[in-house]
Amino acid sequence: MKKVLPSIWEVRPSVRLEGEVGLFASCNLTAGTLLIRGDEFDETWVTWNKLNIGTDQPRIKGLIEKWCYFDDDGVWLPRDFKTLPVYYHINHSCEPNIGHTQADDWVALRDISSNEELFMDFRLTCLAPWYRMECFCGTPTCAGTIRGDAWMERSFAMEKLNSFPPYARAKVVAYHGLDT
Ligand SMILES: [Zn+2]
Repeated sequence: MKKVLPSIWEVRPSVRLEGEVGLFASCNLTAGTLLIRGDEFDETWVTWNKLNIGTDQPRIKGLIEKWCYFDDDGVWLPRDFKTLPVYYHINHSCEPNIGHTQADDWVALRDISSNEELFMDFRLTCLAPWYRMECFCGTPTCAGTIRGDAWMERSFAMEKLNSFPPYARAKVVAYHGLDT
């Protein structure tokens, strides 16, 4: 008989972003809980050159900026924008409760209650220097703007070094000439 596992999260209207949806815990999650393993992700890295998005395709660029991790070299593309996995609905917070491990797993960074909205820090995942998005996270340490070049500041890079996902961490280490 096939074993059906309960979902740990679900999509609902965001508590922070009016008119948007977000990802919510559907059970209590203790700090360190593994939410999704790195090898369960289904994205492919494609360079901007290979993707060759012309100015005639603003719709594709819009989809990528809304949904994907990207930097100035390329983008992690989903298999199909029509059938995005549930975890794509996670929103940003400057004080996230979900983070990446160096195995690229997603884990709970602290105890999270059932029905709490889940947040990731996009400054750790979108390393495109030109990227800017106004932040409405409302946390005490809110940066005001989500900047795709935050990682270029040495103090930010050092403070968050082990919080970047592996592909981003490698880029940060190379940029700052860190010996790790
Ligand atoms: Zn913020």
